[in-house]
Amino acid sequence: MRWKSTALRHKDGKLILSNGRGRAPIVLEVEEIETKPRYVEMYFHRGHYYFALVYKINVPPKQETGIAVSVDMGEIHPIVCHDGENTIIYNGRFVRSITQYRNKVNARFQANMDRCEKRSKRWYQLLKAKRKTLDKINAQLKDAEHKITSRFISDCEKAKADTIVIGDLNGIRDRAKFGKKSNQKIHQWAFSRIAQKICYKAELAGIRVIFVSEAYTSQTCPKCANRKKPTNRNYHCKHCGFKYHRDGVGAINLWSKVSGYLLYPVVGELAAPLGVKFHWHLSRSG
Ligand SMILES: [Zn+2]
Repeated sequence: MRWKSTALRHKDGKLILSNGRGRAPIVLEVEEIETKPRYVEMYFHRGHYYFALVYKINVPPKQETGIAVSVDMGEIHPIVCHDGENTIIYNGRFVRSITQYRNKVNARFQANMDRCEKRSKRWYQLLKAKRKTLDKINAQLKDAEHKITSRFISDCEKAKADTIVIGDLNGIRDRAKFGKKSNQKIHQWAFSRIAQKICYKAELAGIRVIFVSEAYTSQTCPKCANRKKPTNRNYHCKHCGFKYHRDGVGAINLWSKVSGYLLYPVVGELAAPLGVKFHWHLSRSG
């Protein structure tokens, strides 16, 4: 169900949705909002009604600064980025622990459900409890991903970046675009969820996003292009002596790719990677 702008009134911290003559309007308490939305949509999900307030947002004009930030999304960390000099690692331990917990809860409920007769009263009770618990955990995960990506975009704005370069693992871009998530490994799904959030938040910040192929970027030496898999947490190229934290190598190579510097020595000294740990007030950098 949808209310057009003409059916909406915003007054004294309340949004009034008109239902036509003779029918009671719906009144929403909206103290935080200052203006009337363009339209409001109501939808129903698992026993609850939700209202979506839709606004038109003025996107800041794109500024050409020539500064690009590359993003490597690995299985260990949701985001590792590089701007030609600095590398920032957004620590993935917290998100990983929620994901593991979710898998554990899911398996436990499933095991209990398998023990009782399908579609019995007990089975439905367990199904309901499972959905409720998983919804809660998923909301936490979503929140964490929002906070990490908001913080990342805030860091990009601070660095005056005009471009974000995302390493594209097996054509994730198209899947992220069309929102397909079947036949994907959990990691890839998480990847596209984070990529999607980066894409729309970048757009709101006036930063363009480009995708480049990620093949071998974590195995290639940024300095001499020699290919070698890192064996421990440090990447050490035997060929030219380049040394760096292994989690930063992919992002440095991606950056070099778009900057046209691949196969050329990395300019200047690379700063040691900076870590950003997750906390619930992460959204904006100070
Ligand atoms: Zn090398």
